[in-house]
Amino acid sequence: MNTEYSNAFVKNPPFPNNYSREFLCFDRGEGSFLVDIQGKRYLDFAGGIAVNSLGYGNEGIIQAATEQVAKLTHVSNLYTTRPTVEFAQAVTASSPLAKDQPWQADKHPGYFEAVHFGNSGTEANEAALKYAKMYAGRKQTPNGPKILACTNGFHGRTLGALSVTYAPKYRKPYEPLIGGVEFIDFNDVQALESTLNTDFTAVIVEPVQGEGGLECMTQEFARSLNNLCRKFDVILIADEVQTGIGRTGTLFASQWVGLEPDIITLSKPIAGGLPLSATLLPKKINELVQVGDHGTTFGGGPVTTRVALEVWRQITAPGFLSGVGQRTAFLQSQLEALVQAFPSRLGSLKGAGMLRGIQVKDPDMLPGIISGARDAGLLILRSGTDIIRLAPPLTITTEDITNGIEILRKVLEEV
Ligand code: PLP
Repeated sequence: MNTEYSNAFVKNPPFPNNYSREFLCFDRGEGSFLVDIQGKRYLDFAGGIAVNSLGYGNEGIIQAATEQVAKLTHVSNLYTTRPTVEFAQAVTASSPLAKDQPWQADKHPGYFEAVHFGNSGTEANEAALKYAKMYAGRKQTPNGPKILACTNGFHGRTLGALSVTYAPKYRKPYEPLIGGVEFIDFNDVQALESTLNTDFTAVIVEPVQGEGGLECMTQEFARSLNNLCRKFDVILIADEVQTGIGRTGTLFASQWVGLEPDIITLSKPIAGGLPLSATLLPKKINELVQVGDHGTTFGGGPVTTRVALEVWRQITAPGFLSGVGQRTAFLQSQLEALVQAFPSRLGSLKGAGMLRGIQVKDPDMLPGIISGARDAGLLILRSGTDIIRLAPPLTITTEDITNGIEILRKVLEEV
């Protein structure tokens, strides 16, 4: 295959065929814009798939990364560094699910006690599943080994995380996957009540299904999950890889839906675009963990955690999340007007906060809308089969929101 550049596109790069054969090739980012190798600017409503929460060129991130790269990039997990310790402390101490938070403290004393670092969302979930299994085994609970997951859930592509991911298109080529996984319909309280029991070790759920169509968890489903998992000593894992740290307007999406997880997994936005994941563990699990139970070479290195500390500082700074709330309300009003303007093309609005979806009535139109928007200078995503997904930087201005929706309006007129 010959690799060739034509305009801003690169064709047939030596990547495996699971990726497209043609890529738009970017050179740099500025605020909420990406700039291709020919200098054309694109308003970024994709945010590197919900990763680039603070946009491009953030001064704090640049300074943190460059200073740390110059100082020290890796020591392995035989040793540690200040940024790694400080980020773990920040997450465990200032988390609203931490032990000093009254709504958690009476139920689950000592939340969260430890952070297992990794490099990607799938690794964070892989670790969560391993810790849950380890808990059931070491504590010698009567629980069986089954794991419960939901239809349309997406938890990653390594074999463990893939086993709890729903879509057959991701699973089929790799079967048999790990056994004992059952799926129930997302938000189906009755199915949950009739399925969950002590045959299960863990439940894994997303508060908003990022890849699978942007359905939001209902409060009733969250409440049932809380009650049943406590009743049967089943570990409740909230996969907040996509929703975590501010995307839905609260630090964790579990908070607004009332989910009380034993484990939270984080990844996409936490290190400003560098690869890092965090699996937050409660005392009741951590006290059973022994040296060597799980590990990683790169996870939680000094550069990623130094940047993560800066991202965490900015997102938890006074006023940041309320600002996200204001921009979310603005985006919501713009999206409502858009849906009203195209009643035959667009259906309901999905998602929450700055992770929003617009249902396209004819799913066959979706690829044309995404490529039309790209050609017009707006980057958007797909979720599920029929949803336009928007995950712009949390820092996007209302002016850029208006401009992006205007581009989308023109594209919808033309497709
Ligand atoms: N979990 C959720 C909710 C995700 O959205 C994703 C990725 O899209 C993953 C897990 C997997 O993350 P990664 O691609 O970093 O392995």
